[in-house]
Parts: sequence; C-alpha cells; structure tokens
Amino acid sequence: MLGLLIGLCALLGLAVGSFLNVVIYRVPRGESIVSPRSACPSCGAPIRERDNIPVVSWLVLRGRCRDCKAPISPRYPLVELLCAGLFAGTAARFGRQWDLPAYLALFAGLLSLSTIDIERLLLPKKIVYPLTVLVAGLLLMAAAATGHWHDYAVAVICALAWFAVFFALNFASPRILGFGDVRLSLVLGVALGWLGVGYVLLGFFAANVIGAVIGILLIATKRMSRSDRIPYGVFLALGCAVAVLAGPELLRPFTHHTF
Ligand SMILES: [Zn+2]
Repeated sequence: MLGLLIGLCALLGLAVGSFLNVVIYRVPRGESIVSPRSACPSCGAPIRERDNIPVVSWLVLRGRCRDCKAPISPRYPLVELLCAGLFAGTAARFGRQWDLPAYLALFAGLLSLSTIDIERLLLPKKIVYPLTVLVAGLLLMAAAATGHWHDYAVAVICALAWFAVFFALNFASPRILGFGDVRLSLVLGVALGWLGVGYVLLGFFAANVIGAVIGILLIATKRMSRSDRIPYGVFLALGCAVAVLAGPELLRPFTHHTF
C-alpha cells in the first residue's frame, strides 16, 4: 500500500516538476504561467504535446530543440527528477497522513524558489506568498481532520517567531540577510513548527551548516569570492528538507518519546 502511494507521488512529482519548469522560467520574467503554451526560447516554435513528457522527451531529443536544435538546459529534466524524488521521499516519510499534501506543496514550492535563487539570487513574492497561504491552509485542513489544534498553534507561533528573528536580522544588516529570506521564513516556520519546535531548530541549524560547508568549498575552489552574495534561500530550503525528511532520525537522541 505504501509502495503504491510512493509510486503515485513519484509520478505526480514528474508532472509537477514539469510545471515548476514553467514557473521557474516565467515568474521572474513577469510572464503568465497559464498562457501562452510553452515555446522554444531560441526559435519560438511551440513545444509539441509529445515533446512535453517529463525527462523522457529531453532524453529522446538529446537535450536539443526539435526545430532549431538549440540546446535545452539539463535543468529541465533535473528539476523533474528532483521533484519526483522529493515527492517519493515525502510519501515514504508521511504515508497516508492528512499532512502529506502540505509537505508535497512545500517541496514543490521550495524547489522552484531554490532554482530561481541559484540562477538569479531572487525569491519572487509571487511564489512565496501563495506558497505560504497554500501550506498554512493545507496544514489547517490537517489540523481540522485530526483535531491536532495544539500543533497548529505551535506552527503559527514558530512561523511568527522565525519571521521576527529574520526581520530583526535584516533590519540590523540587510546585506547579510535579504528581505526575500525574511518572507520565506513564514512558510518554513509553519511547516517545521507543525512537526515540533525541535524541527524548526534543526531546519535552521542544518541550513547554516550546509551553507557554511558549501560556501567554504566554493571559496576554496575559487568559484566564489568572499564578497559574492550567496543564495541563502537555497540553504534554508535544503535545511528544511533535511529537517522534514530526516528529522525523526536526527532528533531521536534529543527526545524521550518516539515519533
Ligand atoms: Zn527551437
């Protein structure tokens, strides 16, 4: 039964990943995500139905446009595969629980935001705000279905507390912490807070450890200089993924009760 759910979520992840590629391309350019149909950025030829199959089409076309042979970024199949993997992992972690949809939505949103942050050092409001409302709404539904209102209260308090801390940090030094990260803290706080305060601390801690390690590696290999801005949103998203997916194992030594 769980195997079936994981498989279905992986397939859903491929389809959602394909949609995320549209979001990643269009939202920072201020374009609509519903119309017009997808077209090749080089020659403008519309993408045919049969060339729009996640991962498979990119492999069949060997990463080139069918019409003008311009290379298609490996980012497309990569986002689709990552989304499928994240969805499968989330299904394995939560099973048939009411809060599964909230975390699927969370990871889809964070994946698109991370990709845009890497490419443009930007976390668009047009994604962050709807994502926050969607995740908070889906968790509210889970709270209503399970009666876990206490957990929901903790989630809201964690979101507001995280927002307040980041708001203060941004106020003190906007160069170190951009306001995009302040906005993002609400959805991270509500999603991790629903699981428990320990998850919020773990997510924040993991984000900074991952950020420090990758930052040192990039500076040591001269791919980045000390003065370069870092896409901190990516590390927050990674830390959040670690906390959600590996939290029960990582937090076990600190808790007396089992999850
Ligand atoms: Zn083309």
